[in-house]
Amino acid sequence: MGERPQENVIIVGSGPAGYTAALYTARANLAPLVVEGFAWGGLLQQTTEVENYPGFPEGIMGPELMAAFRAQAERFGARLLSADAERIELAKQPGGIHRVVVSGEEHTASAVILAMGAEHRKLGVPGEQELAGRGVSYCATCDAAFFRGAKAIVVGGGDSAMEEAIFLAKFASEVKIVHRREQLRASKIMSERALALPNLELLTPYTVVEIIAGESGATERVRLRHAGDGSERELETGAVFVAIGLDPRSELVRDQLEVDDQGYVKVHGHSTRTTRPGVFAAGDMVDHTYRQAITAAGSGCRAALDAEWYLRDTPGAHVQPALAAES
Ligand code: NAP
Repeated sequence: MGERPQENVIIVGSGPAGYTAALYTARANLAPLVVEGFAWGGLLQQTTEVENYPGFPEGIMGPELMAAFRAQAERFGARLLSADAERIELAKQPGGIHRVVVSGEEHTASAVILAMGAEHRKLGVPGEQELAGRGVSYCATCDAAFFRGAKAIVVGGGDSAMEEAIFLAKFASEVKIVHRREQLRASKIMSERALALPNLELLTPYTVVEIIAGESGATERVRLRHAGDGSERELETGAVFVAIGLDPRSELVRDQLEVDDQGYVKVHGHSTRTTRPGVFAAGDMVDHTYRQAITAAGSGCRAALDAEWYLRDTPGAHVQPALAAES
Protein backbone atom coordinates (compact mmCIF):
# COMPACT_ATOMS: atom_id res chain seq x y z
CA MET A 1 0.00 0.00 0.00
CA GLY A 2 1.47 3.34 -1.06
CA GLU A 3 1.73 6.30 1.33
CA ARG A 4 -0.83 8.93 0.45
CA PRO A 5 -1.29 12.38 1.90
CA GLN A 6 -3.95 12.52 4.55
CA GLU A 7 -7.30 13.89 3.42
CA ASN A 8 -9.47 16.38 5.26
CA VAL A 9 -12.60 14.43 4.55
CA ILE A 10 -13.57 11.22 2.80
CA ILE A 11 -17.19 10.82 1.77
CA VAL A 12 -18.37 7.25 1.27
CA GLY A 13 -21.47 7.02 -0.91
CA SER A 14 -22.85 8.87 -3.89
CA GLY A 15 -26.59 9.32 -3.62
CA PRO A 16 -28.13 12.74 -3.00
CA ALA A 17 -26.56 12.79 0.50
CA GLY A 18 -23.03 11.90 -0.65
CA TYR A 19 -22.86 14.30 -3.58
CA THR A 20 -24.41 17.15 -1.60
CA ALA A 21 -21.85 16.60 1.17
CA ALA A 22 -19.20 16.59 -1.59
CA LEU A 23 -20.49 19.86 -3.06
CA TYR A 24 -20.52 21.64 0.29
CA THR A 25 -17.14 20.36 1.50
CA ALA A 26 -15.61 21.16 -1.91
CA ARG A 27 -16.96 24.71 -1.74
CA ALA A 28 -15.50 24.97 1.79
CA ASN A 29 -12.13 24.30 0.16
CA LEU A 30 -11.67 20.92 1.86
CA ALA A 31 -10.95 19.02 -1.39
CA PRO A 32 -13.12 16.04 -0.43
CA LEU A 33 -12.37 12.54 -1.69
CA VAL A 34 -15.61 10.80 -2.64
CA VAL A 35 -15.71 7.01 -2.72
CA GLU A 36 -18.66 6.90 -5.08
CA GLY A 37 -18.73 3.18 -5.85
CA PHE A 38 -18.84 1.34 -9.18
CA ALA A 39 -22.57 1.97 -9.49
CA TRP A 40 -22.53 5.64 -8.53
CA GLY A 41 -25.67 7.66 -8.02
CA GLY A 42 -27.51 5.55 -5.45
CA LEU A 43 -31.07 4.32 -5.72
CA LEU A 44 -32.19 7.23 -7.92
CA GLN A 45 -30.19 5.61 -10.72
CA GLN A 46 -32.86 2.92 -10.74
CA THR A 47 -35.87 5.19 -10.93
CA THR A 48 -37.53 6.86 -13.87
CA GLU A 49 -39.19 10.22 -13.51
CA VAL A 50 -38.64 12.14 -10.27
CA GLU A 51 -41.57 14.52 -9.89
CA ASN A 52 -41.02 15.69 -6.34
CA TYR A 53 -37.51 17.14 -6.40
CA PRO A 54 -38.02 20.92 -6.04
CA GLY A 55 -36.75 23.05 -8.89
CA PHE A 56 -37.89 20.76 -11.70
CA PRO A 57 -41.51 21.67 -12.45
CA GLU A 58 -41.65 19.24 -15.37
CA GLY A 59 -39.90 16.44 -13.43
CA ILE A 60 -36.49 14.98 -14.20
CA MET A 61 -35.23 11.45 -14.80
CA GLY A 62 -33.48 9.96 -11.73
CA PRO A 63 -30.17 9.20 -13.53
CA GLU A 64 -30.11 12.67 -15.07
CA LEU A 65 -30.60 14.25 -11.66
CA MET A 66 -27.74 12.23 -10.19
CA ALA A 67 -25.43 13.07 -13.09
CA ALA A 68 -26.15 16.74 -12.38
CA PHE A 69 -25.44 16.31 -8.64
CA ARG A 70 -22.15 14.63 -9.52
CA ALA A 71 -21.09 17.24 -12.07
CA GLN A 72 -21.84 20.05 -9.62
CA ALA A 73 -19.69 18.46 -6.89
CA GLU A 74 -16.84 17.87 -9.37
CA ARG A 75 -17.00 21.43 -10.63
CA PHE A 76 -15.95 22.65 -7.19
CA GLY A 77 -13.09 20.19 -6.81
CA ALA A 78 -14.55 17.00 -5.34
CA ARG A 79 -12.37 14.05 -6.38
CA LEU A 80 -14.25 10.89 -7.25
CA LEU A 81 -13.14 7.29 -6.83
CA SER A 82 -15.46 5.05 -8.85
CA ALA A 83 -14.91 1.95 -6.76
CA ASP A 84 -16.49 0.51 -3.63
CA ALA A 85 -15.10 0.94 -0.13
CA GLU A 86 -13.89 -2.46 1.05
CA ARG A 87 -13.08 -1.63 4.64
CA ILE A 88 -13.57 1.32 6.94
CA GLU A 89 -11.68 1.76 10.21
CA LEU A 90 -12.97 4.60 12.33
CA ALA A 91 -10.73 6.30 14.89
CA LYS A 92 -11.92 6.39 18.49
CA GLN A 93 -10.33 9.64 19.69
CA PRO A 94 -11.01 13.24 18.59
CA GLY A 95 -8.39 14.20 16.03
CA GLY A 96 -7.76 10.51 15.25
CA ILE A 97 -7.18 9.24 11.73
CA HIS A 98 -9.88 7.28 9.92
CA ARG A 99 -8.99 4.73 7.28
CA VAL A 100 -10.94 3.75 4.17
CA VAL A 101 -9.67 0.95 1.93
CA VAL A 102 -10.68 1.16 -1.74
CA SER A 103 -9.37 -1.25 -4.41
CA GLY A 104 -6.78 -2.49 -1.92
CA GLU A 105 -5.42 1.04 -1.31
CA GLU A 106 -5.69 2.75 2.04
CA HIS A 107 -6.89 6.35 2.23
CA THR A 108 -6.74 8.30 5.49
CA ALA A 109 -8.70 11.33 6.65
CA SER A 110 -9.44 13.48 9.66
CA ALA A 111 -13.18 13.28 9.00
CA VAL A 112 -15.46 10.78 7.32
CA ILE A 113 -18.98 11.29 6.03
CA LEU A 114 -20.91 8.05 5.73
CA ALA A 115 -23.58 8.21 3.04
CA MET A 116 -23.84 4.63 1.80
CA GLY A 117 -27.61 4.75 1.63
CA ALA A 118 -29.85 1.75 1.66
CA GLU A 119 -30.53 -1.33 -0.42
CA HIS A 120 -33.67 -3.19 -1.38
CA ARG A 121 -35.03 -5.40 1.38
CA LYS A 122 -35.33 -9.09 0.55
CA LEU A 123 -38.39 -11.24 1.18
CA GLY A 124 -36.24 -14.03 2.57
CA VAL A 125 -38.41 -16.83 1.13
CA PRO A 126 -37.37 -20.04 -0.69
CA GLY A 127 -36.70 -19.42 -4.37
CA GLU A 128 -35.98 -15.69 -4.02
CA GLN A 129 -32.21 -15.87 -4.07
CA GLU A 130 -32.07 -18.79 -6.51
CA LEU A 131 -34.31 -17.03 -9.04
CA ALA A 132 -32.77 -13.55 -8.80
CA GLY A 133 -32.15 -12.52 -12.40
CA ARG A 134 -34.49 -15.29 -13.62
CA GLY A 135 -37.78 -13.62 -12.85
CA VAL A 136 -37.03 -12.14 -9.42
CA SER A 137 -36.06 -8.48 -9.53
CA TYR A 138 -35.84 -5.43 -7.26
CA CYS A 139 -35.89 -2.85 -10.05
CA ALA A 140 -38.67 -2.55 -12.59
CA THR A 141 -36.88 0.28 -14.38
CA CYS A 142 -33.97 -2.05 -14.96
CA ASP A 143 -35.81 -5.28 -15.79
CA ALA A 144 -39.46 -4.66 -16.77
CA ALA A 145 -38.69 -4.78 -20.50
CA PHE A 146 -37.72 -8.46 -20.16
CA PHE A 147 -41.32 -9.27 -19.23
CA ARG A 148 -43.18 -7.83 -22.20
CA GLY A 149 -46.53 -9.59 -22.51
CA ALA A 150 -45.94 -11.68 -19.36
CA LYS A 151 -47.91 -11.92 -16.13
CA ALA A 152 -46.06 -10.23 -13.30
CA ILE A 153 -46.50 -9.44 -9.63
CA VAL A 154 -45.16 -6.66 -7.46
CA VAL A 155 -44.81 -7.36 -3.74
CA GLY A 156 -45.33 -4.46 -1.30
CA GLY A 157 -47.81 -1.74 -0.49
CA GLY A 158 -45.68 1.42 -0.35
CA ASP A 159 -44.88 4.12 -2.89
CA SER A 160 -42.06 2.01 -4.33
CA ALA A 161 -44.44 -0.85 -5.05
CA MET A 162 -46.84 1.56 -6.79
CA GLU A 163 -44.03 3.07 -8.82
CA GLU A 164 -42.72 -0.34 -9.83
CA ALA A 165 -46.21 -1.53 -10.75
CA ILE A 166 -46.98 1.55 -12.86
CA PHE A 167 -43.77 1.11 -14.82
CA LEU A 168 -44.21 -2.63 -15.16
CA ALA A 169 -47.78 -2.26 -16.43
CA LYS A 170 -46.36 -0.68 -19.60
CA PHE A 171 -44.73 -4.01 -20.48
CA ALA A 172 -46.47 -6.87 -18.70
CA SER A 173 -49.87 -8.11 -19.86
CA GLU A 174 -51.17 -8.05 -16.30
CA VAL A 175 -49.73 -6.88 -13.02
CA LYS A 176 -50.92 -7.89 -9.56
CA ILE A 177 -49.77 -5.97 -6.51
CA VAL A 178 -49.53 -8.49 -3.67
CA HIS A 179 -49.66 -6.79 -0.27
CA ARG A 180 -49.84 -8.28 3.21
CA ARG A 181 -52.53 -5.90 4.51
CA GLU A 182 -55.83 -4.58 3.14
CA GLN A 183 -54.62 -0.96 3.40
CA LEU A 184 -51.87 0.38 1.21
CA ARG A 185 -49.07 2.34 2.81
CA ALA A 186 -48.48 4.31 -0.39
CA SER A 187 -49.52 7.94 -0.84
CA LYS A 188 -52.97 8.60 -2.26
CA ILE A 189 -51.66 10.04 -5.51
CA MET A 190 -49.46 7.01 -6.24
CA SER A 191 -52.09 4.43 -5.25
CA GLU A 192 -54.76 6.10 -7.37
CA ARG A 193 -52.46 6.32 -10.34
CA ALA A 194 -51.58 2.63 -10.08
CA LEU A 195 -55.09 1.32 -9.46
CA ALA A 196 -56.48 3.31 -12.39
CA LEU A 197 -54.47 1.18 -14.83
CA PRO A 198 -56.63 -1.35 -16.70
CA ASN A 199 -54.12 -4.21 -16.48
CA LEU A 200 -53.31 -3.76 -12.79
CA GLU A 201 -55.05 -5.32 -9.83
CA LEU A 202 -54.55 -5.49 -6.07
CA LEU A 203 -54.35 -8.83 -4.24
CA THR A 204 -54.57 -8.52 -0.43
CA PRO A 205 -53.94 -9.56 2.29
CA TYR A 206 -51.35 -12.03 1.07
CA THR A 207 -47.71 -12.76 1.75
CA VAL A 208 -45.44 -14.55 -0.70
CA VAL A 209 -44.10 -17.70 0.96
CA GLU A 210 -42.28 -19.31 -1.98
CA ILE A 211 -41.16 -18.48 -5.49
CA ILE A 212 -41.19 -21.52 -7.73
CA ALA A 213 -39.31 -22.21 -10.98
CA GLY A 214 -40.76 -23.96 -14.01
CA GLU A 215 -38.96 -26.54 -16.14
CA SER A 216 -36.94 -23.86 -17.91
CA GLY A 217 -35.43 -22.82 -14.58
CA ALA A 218 -37.10 -19.41 -14.64
CA THR A 219 -39.82 -18.12 -12.31
CA GLU A 220 -43.18 -19.72 -13.10
CA ARG A 221 -45.40 -19.24 -10.04
CA VAL A 222 -45.56 -18.08 -6.44
CA ARG A 223 -47.16 -19.61 -3.39
CA LEU A 224 -49.21 -17.09 -1.43
CA ARG A 225 -50.54 -17.27 2.12
CA HIS A 226 -53.63 -15.38 3.20
CA ALA A 227 -52.64 -13.17 6.13
CA GLY A 228 -56.00 -13.68 7.82
CA ASP A 229 -56.93 -17.36 7.64
CA GLY A 230 -53.53 -18.79 6.68
CA SER A 231 -54.88 -20.56 3.58
CA GLU A 232 -52.47 -20.99 0.69
CA ARG A 233 -52.84 -20.72 -3.07
CA GLU A 234 -50.55 -20.64 -6.06
CA LEU A 235 -50.45 -17.92 -8.66
CA GLU A 236 -48.90 -18.16 -12.10
CA THR A 237 -46.39 -15.37 -12.78
CA GLY A 238 -43.29 -14.94 -14.89
CA ALA A 239 -41.86 -12.16 -12.76
CA VAL A 240 -41.75 -11.15 -9.11
CA PHE A 241 -40.76 -7.55 -8.43
CA VAL A 242 -39.99 -7.12 -4.75
CA ALA A 243 -40.58 -3.59 -3.43
CA ILE A 244 -40.91 -3.95 0.34
CA GLY A 245 -38.67 -1.15 1.50
CA LEU A 246 -35.04 -0.60 2.23
CA ASP A 247 -32.32 -1.71 4.63
CA PRO A 248 -29.44 0.61 5.52
CA ARG A 249 -26.07 -0.28 4.02
CA SER A 250 -24.18 0.10 7.27
CA GLU A 251 -22.43 -3.28 7.32
CA LEU A 252 -18.91 -1.81 7.02
CA VAL A 253 -19.33 0.32 10.14
CA ARG A 254 -22.06 -1.18 12.30
CA ASP A 255 -19.59 -2.84 14.69
CA GLN A 256 -17.72 0.42 15.21
CA LEU A 257 -20.40 2.94 16.04
CA GLU A 258 -23.89 2.88 17.48
CA VAL A 259 -26.66 1.67 15.21
CA ASP A 260 -30.28 0.87 16.04
CA ASP A 261 -31.81 -2.60 15.92
CA GLN A 262 -32.39 -2.29 12.15
CA GLY A 263 -28.85 -1.13 11.43
CA TYR A 264 -29.54 2.58 10.95
CA VAL A 265 -26.62 4.69 12.17
CA LYS A 266 -27.47 6.75 15.26
CA VAL A 267 -26.70 10.47 15.27
CA HIS A 268 -26.81 13.10 18.03
CA GLY A 269 -30.03 15.13 17.96
CA HIS A 270 -30.52 17.09 14.76
CA SER A 271 -26.84 16.87 13.88
CA THR A 272 -25.14 14.23 11.71
CA ARG A 273 -22.57 13.43 14.44
CA THR A 274 -22.24 9.72 15.11
CA THR A 275 -20.84 8.14 18.27
CA ARG A 276 -17.32 8.34 16.79
CA PRO A 277 -15.60 11.77 16.76
CA GLY A 278 -15.06 13.10 13.25
CA VAL A 279 -17.53 10.61 11.75
CA PHE A 280 -20.78 11.94 10.33
CA ALA A 281 -23.67 10.09 8.74
CA ALA A 282 -26.32 11.28 6.30
CA GLY A 283 -29.10 10.12 4.01
CA ASP A 284 -30.90 6.77 4.04
CA MET A 285 -28.32 5.21 6.38
CA VAL A 286 -29.73 7.37 9.15
CA ASP A 287 -33.28 8.04 8.11
CA HIS A 288 -36.10 5.60 8.88
CA THR A 289 -38.80 8.01 8.18
CA TYR A 290 -38.52 10.48 5.34
CA ARG A 291 -36.20 8.76 2.84
CA GLN A 292 -36.64 11.28 0.06
CA ALA A 293 -33.98 12.59 -2.33
CA ILE A 294 -34.51 16.09 -0.98
CA THR A 295 -34.23 15.06 2.68
CA ALA A 296 -31.10 13.02 1.90
CA ALA A 297 -29.59 16.01 0.10
CA GLY A 298 -30.43 18.22 3.10
CA SER A 299 -28.76 15.85 5.52
CA GLY A 300 -25.70 15.64 3.23
CA CYS A 301 -25.44 19.41 3.52
CA ARG A 302 -25.67 19.19 7.31
CA ALA A 303 -22.99 16.48 7.39
CA ALA A 304 -20.68 18.68 5.33
CA LEU A 305 -21.16 21.61 7.72
CA ASP A 306 -20.68 19.35 10.76
CA ALA A 307 -17.46 17.99 9.23
CA GLU A 308 -16.26 21.49 8.36
CA TRP A 309 -16.82 22.68 11.95
CA TYR A 310 -15.15 19.56 13.36
CA LEU A 311 -12.05 20.17 11.21
CA ARG A 312 -11.98 23.82 12.23
CA ASP A 313 -12.37 23.13 15.95
CA THR A 314 -10.21 20.03 16.39
CA PRO A 315 -6.51 20.85 16.80
CA GLY A 316 -4.41 19.32 14.04
CA ALA A 317 -7.37 17.95 12.10
CA HIS A 318 -7.39 20.32 9.13
CA VAL A 319 -4.82 19.67 6.41
CA GLN A 320 -3.90 21.94 3.54
CA PRO A 321 -6.27 21.46 0.58
CA ALA A 322 -3.35 21.71 -1.84
CA LEU A 323 -1.72 18.76 -0.09
CA ALA A 324 -4.96 16.81 -0.06
CA ALA A 325 -5.54 17.54 -3.73
CA GLU A 326 -2.23 15.94 -4.76
CA SER A 327 -3.33 12.35 -4.14
P1 NAP B 1 -42.20 1.62 2.66
O1 NAP B 1 -42.98 2.88 2.57
O2 NAP B 1 -41.52 1.26 3.94
O3 NAP B 1 -43.18 0.43 2.25
C1 NAP B 1 -42.76 -0.90 2.31
C2 NAP B 1 -43.96 -1.79 2.01
O4 NAP B 1 -43.52 -3.14 1.97
C3 NAP B 1 -45.05 -1.67 3.05
O5 NAP B 1 -46.30 -1.69 2.44
C4 NAP B 1 -44.80 -2.93 3.91
O6 NAP B 1 -45.97 -3.45 4.44
C5 NAP B 1 -44.25 -3.91 2.91
N1 NAP B 1 -43.34 -4.87 3.53
C6 NAP B 1 -42.24 -4.63 4.32
N2 NAP B 1 -41.63 -5.76 4.66
C7 NAP B 1 -42.33 -6.76 4.08
C8 NAP B 1 -42.19 -8.17 4.05
N3 NAP B 1 -41.17 -8.79 4.68
N4 NAP B 1 -43.09 -8.89 3.36
C9 NAP B 1 -44.11 -8.28 2.71
N5 NAP B 1 -44.31 -6.95 2.68
C10 NAP B 1 -43.41 -6.19 3.37
O7 NAP B 1 -41.03 1.56 1.56
P2 NAP B 1 -41.02 2.14 0.05
O8 NAP B 1 -42.27 1.88 -0.64
O9 NAP B 1 -39.75 1.61 -0.51
O10 NAP B 1 -40.87 3.69 0.24
C11 NAP B 1 -39.76 4.23 0.99
C12 NAP B 1 -39.87 5.75 1.04
O11 NAP B 1 -39.63 6.29 -0.26
C13 NAP B 1 -41.24 6.26 1.46
O12 NAP B 1 -41.05 7.41 2.23
C14 NAP B 1 -41.92 6.59 0.16
O13 NAP B 1 -42.90 7.57 0.28
C15 NAP B 1 -40.73 7.07 -0.67
N6 NAP B 1 -40.99 6.87 -2.12
C16 NAP B 1 -41.64 7.84 -2.81
C17 NAP B 1 -41.92 7.69 -4.15
C18 NAP B 1 -42.66 8.75 -4.91
O14 NAP B 1 -43.27 9.59 -4.29
N7 NAP B 1 -42.62 8.78 -6.21
C19 NAP B 1 -41.53 6.53 -4.82
C20 NAP B 1 -40.86 5.53 -4.09
C21 NAP B 1 -40.61 5.71 -2.74
P3 NAP B 1 -46.80 -2.68 5.57
O15 NAP B 1 -47.53 -1.60 4.85
O16 NAP B 1 -47.69 -3.76 6.11
O17 NAP B 1 -45.79 -2.20 6.55
